[in-house]
Formats: sequence, structure tokens, C-alpha cells
Amino acid sequence: MSEPLLRVQGLTKHFPVLRGFLRRRVGTVRAVDDVSFDLHKQQTLAVVGESGCGKTTAGRAILRLVEPDAGHVWFHGKDLPTLDAPALRQMRRHMQIIFQDPYSSLNPRHTVGQIIGRPLVLHGVAQNTADAEDQVRQLLVRVGLQPKYLSRYPHEFSGGQRQRIGIARAIALRPDFVVCDEAVSALDVSVRAQVLNLLMDLQSEFGLAYVFVTHDLSVVRHIADEVVVMYLGQIVERAPRTSLFLRPSHPYTQALLSAAPEPDPAKRRQRIVLAGDVPSPMNPPTGCRFHTRCPLAFARCRVELPAAHTVADAHTVACHLYEGRQEPVDLLAPG
Ligand code: SF4
Repeated sequence: MSEPLLRVQGLTKHFPVLRGFLRRRVGTVRAVDDVSFDLHKQQTLAVVGESGCGKTTAGRAILRLVEPDAGHVWFHGKDLPTLDAPALRQMRRHMQIIFQDPYSSLNPRHTVGQIIGRPLVLHGVAQNTADAEDQVRQLLVRVGLQPKYLSRYPHEFSGGQRQRIGIARAIALRPDFVVCDEAVSALDVSVRAQVLNLLMDLQSEFGLAYVFVTHDLSVVRHIADEVVVMYLGQIVERAPRTSLFLRPSHPYTQALLSAAPEPDPAKRRQRIVLAGDVPSPMNPPTGCRFHTRCPLAFARCRVELPAAHTVADAHTVACHLYEGRQEPVDLLAPG
């Protein structure tokens, strides 16, 4: 395959937990721990997991909206975490984000024209205000909104329309990479499908690559080329979409998929209910972080972090059970 557009290697982000009047450090939240993956041009990589698994932090650390503690993010030949502020500003043009909440991600005091047009002026893509307005009108039409909305404020729009404004802002500078951070989660089901289709159309029109952060497996099924599954800050499984849905292999992935709605009765899986809650990322379990909930855990799982084992083409699973084995374990098998 060709060189990836984005290469993430060993990305790590920990947050200090501060308490008391003196704000003493009492712990560390290990939000993202040693995460690695590649993203190719015009591809969509979905990052999935339950809330608190670190997927949103990973997306933001890639863009340096939060500063990573360690790791590399190679993009256009540059390692993003090492760039100084001016170089990072230059690079921002090529990478954008669409946020989850269309209600809080747009400045309520700015008109749509200002929200979408400002980056065009700042990055020199528009020559002047009139040119910026012209480009904003075209962008509004492209995302399915009327050009006259230019002078309106965010509160005058529905959730779906606001998300379209967020999308117009994200594509205004013609980036080649966009992080979609739960970009459709806050929308009604019917609107969600329309916005997903819009994102896919824009992907082929502008050659965009997406990192799609989501907890929703029906969205993954619709939009992803590749999937990484995260649990407590680490990747537990990584696979092309078809391979993941055909043969989910990590016990956590199997449980996650068994809980997802399946429209085709023939493909419905028996529900696997995991014991207990997700442990705190402040004090994650030793060894395999999933061992406190894994029905197949054995002594080694409590002490040794599993390596990633290849079970099919481009399909890897971080679980000791796949040492020398490729066929999926069966969580529902008796005894
Ligand atoms: Fe379960 Fe052990 Fe595999 Fe972790 S390494 S998923 S605890 S069997």
C-alpha cells in the first residue's frame, strides 16, 4: 500500500489529577497509552470504544488540541508534536476537526459568515472580506444550506444545520485530514444519516481522510474503512471494517458488537454481558487492562500486557489467547 497520509506512533497522553487547596497531584489519568495506527489518503479510520476509553483524547492529541506526552504523529513529512507554534499554525490548514456538540462549538456572537470566513482570511485563502463572503456562500450551498444564512447567528439553526455549518468551517481551508469527534452523535437518527452521507460525499469530492471517533457501531459500519477498538486508553483490536464485523476477535470487541443493534435477524449475535464497570483510567488494571471483566482471563492476563497478534490480513488483536492461534475465541462456549 502507498505511504500513509498520517502515521501515529506510540501516542500517549496522561492527565494529572490535582486535589486540595494546594492543588497537589494525587494521581494520573492514563487517557491514551501507546496508541499507533496509520491513516491513508481518502480513507476513514473509526476509533471506537465506550465513553472514557480515550478515543476523544487520542483525536485531539493527534491535532495537538491537547499536548501529547509522548509519541509521534507524522503528517506531510512533519512530526506534529515537535513543531513550534508558527509551523503548527501553517499545518492547521491541512487538518481540521468537527466537534460533537453543534450547540457549543459555534461562537453564538458571530454570524455564520464570520465563523466560516475568518479562517479563510487568516490563512490568506480569501483576498478580502467580499471574497471571503463569496467563498462562504459557496461552502453553505455545498453543505446543503442556503447562501442567505451568511448573516444569521447559530441560535437561529437546528442541530443538524449547525453541524452542517461546523462541517463547512472544517472544509473551508481544503484540508486533507479531518477528525470527526462524535460528529453525528448528538443528532436525530434521520438527520444523522443525512450528515453521514454529506461527509462521505465531501470525502470523495475533496479527497479527505477522516479519523472518526465514535461509540456508535452502526456509524462505523456505514462509514469506516478501518477500525481500531480502544479500551482504557489502549488499542485492543485493529482491522479492516469487513474483517472486524465478520470475525471480531478480542473478547471486548465481541461484547461490544453483541450489544449493537443489528437490522438483519440472521446476523444477530447473542448478547454478551460483561461483568462490572469499566475500571478508572486513574488506576488501570495491571497486565491486560480488560482482565477484570474478561470471562476468559487467566493468571498471565493479570501480570503481562498482551502483544498485538495478527489473525488475518491487517487484522491484529492484543490478547494472549491469540499467541499461535488465529480463529476467534468463542465467549459464549460453555465452560
Ligand atoms: Fe481476556 Fe486475557 Fe485476552 Fe485480556 S489477554 S482479553 S484478559 S484473555
